[in-house]
Parts: sequence; C-alpha cells; structure tokens
Amino acid sequence: MAEIFRLTLPREEPPKFPDCCIVCGRPEPHHQASLFAGEMRRGHSFLSGSYSVKVPCCVGCSVRLHTRRLLSGLAPLLIVGGGVALLLVLESRTKSAGPIAWFAGAIALLTFLAWRVAFPPAFSVEPDDQYVSFEFRDVGMAQAFRRLNPRCQASGSLTSA
Ligand SMILES: [Zn+2]
Repeated sequence: MAEIFRLTLPREEPPKFPDCCIVCGRPEPHHQASLFAGEMRRGHSFLSGSYSVKVPCCVGCSVRLHTRRLLSGLAPLLIVGGGVALLLVLESRTKSAGPIAWFAGAIALLTFLAWRVAFPPAFSVEPDDQYVSFEFRDVGMAQAFRRLNPRCQASGSLTSA
C-alpha cells in the first residue's frame, strides 16, 4: 500500500506549490492544471463549499491527472451500470441472473477500491469547512509544499520529517 502525505491549509490561505510538476516532479513545467474539488458532504453547499486550485503540472501529466480524477469519480456509476446491464442480458437466459450480476458488481467494486488503495493519485485535494487537505504521494513534494506554506499542518509520518 502506497503511503500518502496529507497537509491541510486554512481555506483562506492561497497554497504555494514548488515550481515542479505535481505528478512527475519535473522542474519548471511551465504549465498549470486547474483542479476542482466538489463539496459532496451531506448538509454542505456544493456552490460555496467547493474549491478550485491551480497546480504546476506538465501538459502530459495534466491530461493523465484529469483523466484519472474523472474515471475515479465515474467508476462507481459505471460499475453499477455494468451490473444492471449484465442483469438485463442474463435475465431471460438464467434464473441466477440476479446473484451473478450482484457478484460481478461486488467483485468489480472491490477491485476498484483495491486499485485506489494500492495506486493512489500523485496529488489530490479535498475541501473541508475551514481547511483544505492536500494529499501527496511523494514525500519530497509534500515537504517542499510544507516549507512554502508555513501555516500548513501535516499529519501522519510527515509530522516527524
Ligand atoms: Zn509531469
């Protein structure tokens, strides 16, 4: 399981990133990726609670980062849709269509969750009420971010680094 380094900043504090690609670490990428983190927690406003940030990122890494974020968001819906489609296809052919579709959906969902834990994204951002969490897969990137943002709080193994 890959280790993730989480740092939080107060919402009102604009984050400063090191001048290197947030995904591959290449210095001076001369490009930025705009990331949007929607507020999806129950009882919170999507409009006022959501957060967007621009991060330094190579063009190629930017495409991969956006694609991964999109697929990660859509995967649960695609799995449910695939399970329903499988159920409809098998319904007229076998009496066990329901259990087969449920089992296939459960396997697909577990595989997706295991993939997310084993291969977390290089960078992710998540808004909270008063703080924004920035997650880095690379400890060097997390430490550089911490140095540039004195008000950020680290959690996990980065606190002792
Ligand atoms: Zn890159």
